[in-house]
Amino acid sequence: MDEQLTKREDAAPPGQTEGLWVADASGRIIFANPALARMAGAPDPAGLVGRNWRSLFPPVEAARMARGRAAAGPATTVATTLNVDGRPPLPCSANVARHGVGKSTLFIGSVSVTGSARPQAVDGACRQVMESAVDGICTVDGGHITFCNRRFEALTGYTASQISNLGLERMIASRDRNTVAQTVSQFDRLLSPVHHQVRLLHRNGTEVDCELRIAPLESAGRPMLICFVRDVSELRRAERARNDMVAMLSHDLRTPLAAIKEAVSLLSETTGARLEDRQRRYVSIAREEIDRLNRMIENLVEVSRMEAGKVVLHLDAVDLAEVLSNSVESLSLLINKRNLTIERTIPRRLPAVLADRDRLLRVFNNLLDNAIKYSPAGGTIRIHVGFVEPGTEALKGNGILPETGYVQVTIADDGPGIPAEFLDRIFGKFERVDPYGPGIGLGLAIVRSNIDLHHGRVWVESKIGEGASFCFILPIREENQ
Ligand code: ADP
Repeated sequence: MDEQLTKREDAAPPGQTEGLWVADASGRIIFANPALARMAGAPDPAGLVGRNWRSLFPPVEAARMARGRAAAGPATTVATTLNVDGRPPLPCSANVARHGVGKSTLFIGSVSVTGSARPQAVDGACRQVMESAVDGICTVDGGHITFCNRRFEALTGYTASQISNLGLERMIASRDRNTVAQTVSQFDRLLSPVHHQVRLLHRNGTEVDCELRIAPLESAGRPMLICFVRDVSELRRAERARNDMVAMLSHDLRTPLAAIKEAVSLLSETTGARLEDRQRRYVSIAREEIDRLNRMIENLVEVSRMEAGKVVLHLDAVDLAEVLSNSVESLSLLINKRNLTIERTIPRRLPAVLADRDRLLRVFNNLLDNAIKYSPAGGTIRIHVGFVEPGTEALKGNGILPETGYVQVTIADDGPGIPAEFLDRIFGKFERVDPYGPGIGLGLAIVRSNIDLHHGRVWVESKIGEGASFCFILPIREENQ
């Protein structure tokens, strides 16, 4: 919102601050000026062409304007709000007039912004709203706290007058102070809100886990900051307790499961030849399910390790094709059971990647396990490994190493596919398209975390009914590494 507003207020030269449009007899906009596009949050005037001018205003106001232009005489100017795409409406005054051009009718409209969607001052109703908020709120002007609500006082243990003498940074624990100070120093350049996870320093010396949101604010033409502080210490405590429990449970489950696995292996080795087909099938089911349980427990252990920040990479030159074979081998029971074909395309001279072998194996295991789970029986899973061309989109993400060669792995299946709204979300913890389907929703979170740690990138391409292609890229190990 703020970026749009800044553009709208500052970038429009004087004389061009009035938004104008021309619409045909049906109300379709056939011309809009750049000022209108800026006000309405459209990338350019063409973005408004074809839209009905009424969609720019609340329906009741649009009807009032339409009634005004039907009457004889000049068009009636209406105080209204302008619908800004995806943002709070903007107070404005607008009118629309009818013009006959030859045999056709055109409507010419104009709109001027009368107010700003930003809060103007901390007084009156605005102050009352802030005082009743559940979050701590303060405004920062030139590095000084000029207003704080009661909740902010409670969170810091200081009174408003004591707080006004201290800068915001003084309220933040020393290890988080620099990041906050950096944001505060950009008070006149900040265009959109910034979030920080910080520990707030209480007057009694204790630290409170908080989420801090710093947003730009303009008061009487002066750039300022408004900060929202939310105490998330209970949430963090609950998360830590959950992680501890998951870590403990998964650790304790591993030992008996290893013993069961060993016992079933011994059973099938010693009695295998004497078993009937049906009994052999039972033993095979037991082994598959033990393996599945093992993978789930591995994932739970991995997630608690990741959350505790205990993941240390042991980077080395890793033969990607060998790790892939290992993963396919470990899942062969499932692959055979579902009668699936695995097609592999791997360049003959594939250089080693710089990776932690165990973690890469976990990435393959999770992606292949999913491809197997979601493939129709008798289907094909296609695994393609290739070089990433320099300058391609895949190399433009965060964390990608500059001037480094990358390889891409794609694992494609013929399963049900993934709805568009889940394409990014499913990499989050416990995210599943079908909450009642198989699995617990941790595999892809582990894949993303591991690939990120390797300076890689993972994504999925899919359309419902057309299978899913999971792709990831990893850096090639350079000679001198
Ligand atoms: P889990 O498989 O344990 O549920 P994941 O994190 O591996 O957890 O996957 C999360 C969700 O993503 C799955 O529940 C499923 O909805 C979706 N998904 C993952 N892989 C595929 C795939 N190959 N085809 C269709 N959906 C998939």
